[in-house]
Amino acid sequence: MQFSSRERQKLARLAGDRREQYPHSLQFYLEPPTESISLVEFESFAIDRLKLLKVVENLGVSHVRSTDIYKTKLEAELRKLKFPYRALAEDDYEARRKDHISHFILRLAYCQSEDLRRWFLQQEMDLFRYRFNELTESLMQKFLGHVNLSFEAVGEDLKNELVNELSASTPGFTVSKVKEQMFYKVGLADAVDLFRARRVFIKDGFAYVPFKEIDVIVLNNYRTKLSKALALTARSLPSIQSDERLQPLLNHLSHSYVGPDYSVQKNTGKISLEQIDALSVKSFPLCMRQLHRALRDSHHLRHGGRMQYGLFLKGIGLTLEQALEFWKKEFIRGKVDADKFDKGYAYSIRHNYGKEGKRTDYTPYSCMKIIMSNPPSQGDYHGCPFRHSDPELLKQKLQLYKIPPSGITQILELVKGMHYQLACQKYFELTHDVDDIGFSLNHPNQYFTESQKLLNGGRELKKELNNSGNFHQKNNTQESINSSSTPTSSNATGDTELEGLEAYFTED
Ligand code: SF4
Repeated sequence: MQFSSRERQKLARLAGDRREQYPHSLQFYLEPPTESISLVEFESFAIDRLKLLKVVENLGVSHVRSTDIYKTKLEAELRKLKFPYRALAEDDYEARRKDHISHFILRLAYCQSEDLRRWFLQQEMDLFRYRFNELTESLMQKFLGHVNLSFEAVGEDLKNELVNELSASTPGFTVSKVKEQMFYKVGLADAVDLFRARRVFIKDGFAYVPFKEIDVIVLNNYRTKLSKALALTARSLPSIQSDERLQPLLNHLSHSYVGPDYSVQKNTGKISLEQIDALSVKSFPLCMRQLHRALRDSHHLRHGGRMQYGLFLKGIGLTLEQALEFWKKEFIRGKVDADKFDKGYAYSIRHNYGKEGKRTDYTPYSCMKIIMSNPPSQGDYHGCPFRHSDPELLKQKLQLYKIPPSGITQILELVKGMHYQLACQKYFELTHDVDDIGFSLNHPNQYFTESQKLLNGGRELKKELNNSGNFHQKNNTQESINSSSTPTSSNATGDTELEGLEAYFTED
């Protein structure tokens, strides 16, 4: 395309204006965006940032933050998702805009509960730390000036006068290193962490902070600002909740799953009912293994369990006929007779497969949905065992499943740090004897698929030809194709509709 010189001038002016809007790609996110954006852009920005923060979480647990591998992987993700990847070093308006807007959207979605706020704050801090530490010294100075954190540099004369004290009070600083490095005078309130850890020299109400420790001060400052902002945003939630377009999107984001859709179409008819016991041991994540065991033991599951497990089974490939047979066989071993099952439960299973009510083909629950909503009560087996089980019970369960003691300790550490999906990834590694699972776990059906790929040497689950459970396979495949309007997890109406569905599962 050719531009006339006037058009070129116009474009140049526009680029200049835009640069003014984001003079630095690293920021404290103090001013919310004011421009109008489409709902499509709103959702896509938010999902990309969520993907990024999940990678940040994952890397933070699997690698030391200062290592090259951590930095390389994070930079690759930032590039892939088109976020600024070397703060201040490049001039990329679109990336900066996306960074700014997406931060504020997730702030809205993740201010809604203490758990969400803590998770968001932690990942944003790690992201900021990486970006800040990637700056050159001069760019750091520039950024500090921009956010009004310009600290007074200690002059050479004063530094020489205090050289012995500075060396004695600053770990890792010999006299010659003190002479080489810049030191800054920082008010005590800003240097509390360094002061508490006895890592700075204090004089007359000022901490003498070497340049390499300035990131601690900046991060503290950012943490305080962001936690306050999250608390303030939470207070304004009622007005946001009244916005019919935004609320479902925000709710959905905070329960969001950002991987592929694990709905039934791909797998229908590939599993026989006889395989389920063995698969539950080899390839089910702990949440589904627990539900399966509870169902086999008590021949019943309450509605939360039936929803979570029923949709998972549907996602791994059980047809409607198989599901009806599976649940009926088990329930009539308990207190429910065949007639009661047909009247009370079969409807809800057909509903689950989009054959009753609104005829919506429902999508299996993601980890975030399971972890964040509908916690189990006494007598329930649904939920995520890493999030909802007492640590002692979890430990016993892991021992029962022959997880080695060192692995149990690692899992419990991750649980303590509230990294539930990472604890589940560790469980995957230990039960499949691999060092690194090579994917970021977001969904119980993803766990199953990856497990099957690994156990079958990279192949997807083989179709079972000789089993009674697949008698209606052809018809059902057709039915699945016809119902290809399945709401995926990225469909904001999905959760609302699921609430309607849950009403059908009220019978315990
Ligand atoms: Fe299930 Fe996800 Fe929890 Fe694993 S992390 S147990 S897959 S909910």
